[in-house]
Formats: sequence, C-alpha cells, structure tokens
Amino acid sequence: MRVTIRPIELSLRHRFTLSRSSDEVRRCVIVELEHDQLSGLGEAAPPGRYGESADTAADFLNSIDLGGFDDPFRVDEILQAISAAAPGNMAAKAALDMALHDWIGKRMQLPLWKIWRLDREKAPRTFFTIGIDAPEIVARKVREADEFPMLKVKLGVPSDREIVAAIREETSKPITVDANEGWSSKEEALDQILWLEERGVEFVEQPLRSNDLEGTAWLRERVHVPLFADESIKGLTDLPRLQGVFDGINIKLMKCGGLKEARDLIRAAREMGMKILLGCMIETSLGISAAAQISPLADYADLDGNLLISNDPFSGVKVSGGKLLLNDLPGLGVTVSTPNL
Ligand code: MG
Repeated sequence: MRVTIRPIELSLRHRFTLSRSSDEVRRCVIVELEHDQLSGLGEAAPPGRYGESADTAADFLNSIDLGGFDDPFRVDEILQAISAAAPGNMAAKAALDMALHDWIGKRMQLPLWKIWRLDREKAPRTFFTIGIDAPEIVARKVREADEFPMLKVKLGVPSDREIVAAIREETSKPITVDANEGWSSKEEALDQILWLEERGVEFVEQPLRSNDLEGTAWLRERVHVPLFADESIKGLTDLPRLQGVFDGINIKLMKCGGLKEARDLIRAAREMGMKILLGCMIETSLGISAAAQISPLADYADLDGNLLISNDPFSGVKVSGGKLLLNDLPGLGVTVSTPNL
C-alpha cells in the first residue's frame, strides 16, 4: 500500500472572516492511496484552530509508511496504527481514513453510503455559511445564497447586530448563528442570544470559549434555543463532559480524524440524547463528499466548504434546493475535474 501527497492551494470566492481569522486562500493536502492497481483519495484541510497546517499535515503524512499493510479492508487495524503514530494531526489522519474508505468503495463498486446501508433520501439540507463582513456585503452574500433554504451566520464581533439586521432585511429564512467562541463573557452571550431569539434563530453554535463549560451551562439554563458545541468537541474523549452543557455537537472529519471516528461519535452522542450537526472546514468536494456519505445520520449538515472556493479540483456531492444529493459513484462519489491533479 503506497501513499502519495499533493499540497494544493484553494482560492476563496470571498475573503472568509471568522471572529478569530480572515483568509483569501487556504492550503490543503490531497492524499492518494494506491494498492492493487486501484487508488483511493482523501483530503486534509487542516484547521489552524487546532494547531495544524498544510505543512504539519504533509510532515505527518510523509512519516506514515503503510508498506507493511497489504489489505485496505483491514481499515480498523490500519487506522489504529496511524492513530498511534503521533498524537493530534487529525486532519492528516482524516485524509488517510477517507482514502482507505474510498479505495474500499471503489473495489466493491459501491458508494460508501450504500456499503453502510444508509438511506440517501435522509441526507439533510445543508446550511450555506455567511462569513463576517460589512453589512452591505453580507446582504449581497445572502442574495447569492438564494437557493439555500437555511443560512449559518458567523458572528462574535462588535458588528453582530448590524450583520443580522442586514440579513433580516433580505430574508426571513431560518438562520443559525456560529459565534466561534467570539463572545467574551456569559453575560454578553446571553444578551446577544436573547436578542437573536427575537429574530428567528434556530440554534447557536459555540457561544463561549471551548473550555468555558461552566459558563455555557449557565447560559443554557437562560436561553430557549439549543446550543451546539464545535470548538468544545474534537473527538469521543471530549463528549462525556458536554452532558448538560450543550444540546448538540458539530462533528467534522478534520477535527475527529475521519469517517470511522465520526460514526462512533454520532453513535455515542445519540446515546446522550444530543443532536448532530455535520460540519466542515474550507475543503474541496473531496472532503465534502466524504462527510456527505454519512450525512443521513445527521440532523443538520453544514457541508458548504466546497461552495466557498473558486478552484475546486474535484466534482462530487451536489446540492439542489439546499439538499445534499448523494450520487451512485463508488467510494466517496468523487471524480477529478482538474487534469494533472
Ligand atoms: Mg463552528
């Protein structure tokens, strides 16, 4: 089994601004796993928030030698070895997890959602994400997102209310809010959420810093909308302490390390009565299509990272009327649309 990597640069359609960062390009790493004249593809879109970059992902991937494995179907065993190679590096690990599952699907000539006996009709609609911007640009982005029935709005900055007011002047469609840890105190978060509740917000994601679970539990007792964890949850080990603090979790392949871990996380969170949002980073259609394979297991999807870039080298899951459409192609359901990639 041989792994080769290709770092690529993604250009963003609009500068993408969160409460903590602002970017025009993002770098990611494409992984190709070759075995028995068949190749599986995966992507690492490393989230800087968790200390990863395209360089650290490439270093980790270059350090992995799968030459000792001769059967990608032994995916659990292989992933265990990859996981034990070094701590962290979750996006890089996710890329290998995706490539293994893509290979398996291609060998079986079946899409992953079918191998896992999921019903693609249950794939949820996806939010379209509106990054932080001046109100007039926010309004333009809302008009561009006309096709999407639900919007996710990035907040956590001093202009929060102007941004939401600009959106509400354009549309009355459901919105959710992601503060990305941007509100500095529980009192500020409470004030903002009560104001947002009057403007039709379905849920609020990560109102406070990831480690402020006490503040978040305090907040949860005082608001009516569900609170979702994102930065507070990376993988399974973070889950137990979120009981009574959050109503749902945002699972991302790049945070948890891939499809296998994401499925385990969904199962465990369901047992705790939590809602599931399946999210993403800024990614190509490769990473998005991988996540989409398990989207029938989620309540909500926020799988629009590929729609925010202008040079997507892949073609995969499509969106119609906001709904994710899983195709019949084997593996992750992705084809390469840029020659030489
Ligand atoms: Mg988030």
